Amino acid sequence: MRSLHHVLYACYGALFGWLAWCAVQSARNGAPWVCAVFVAGSGLVVVAATREGVLKDTLRREAVRAQRATRLHPADAGAAEAAVARAGWCCDAWAATAGGEHGPSCRHRLPKGNGV
Ligand SMILES: [Zn+2]
Repeated sequence: MRSLHHVLYACYGALFGWLAWCAVQSARNGAPWVCAVFVAGSGLVVVAATREGVLKDTLRREAVRAQRATRLHPADAGAAEAAVARAGWCCDAWAATAGGEHGPSCRHRLPKGNGV
């Protein structure tokens, strides 16, 4: 996308130069109305180049905003599920048994022989 902007800027510059040259030649050869049309065309090229710059800035700003939103709110449901699982992680045995048992050194382990 960045190179497209550069190509368009180069094209706008070349077109502006050609239209300006045509305007000068028209004025030299006594065609003021044609000169005016070329000057108007040159102005439109300047407007197009300016709008291309605005579009480039807007696209960059939107990309940064989307990147921030992705960082703040993980869109992937698997990532959210993994985050919840990591929050409840207490020991390796708990993870290996999908929450069924706790390891010998885990604080969530219930003492044996209590009837549970
Ligand atoms: Zn545990």
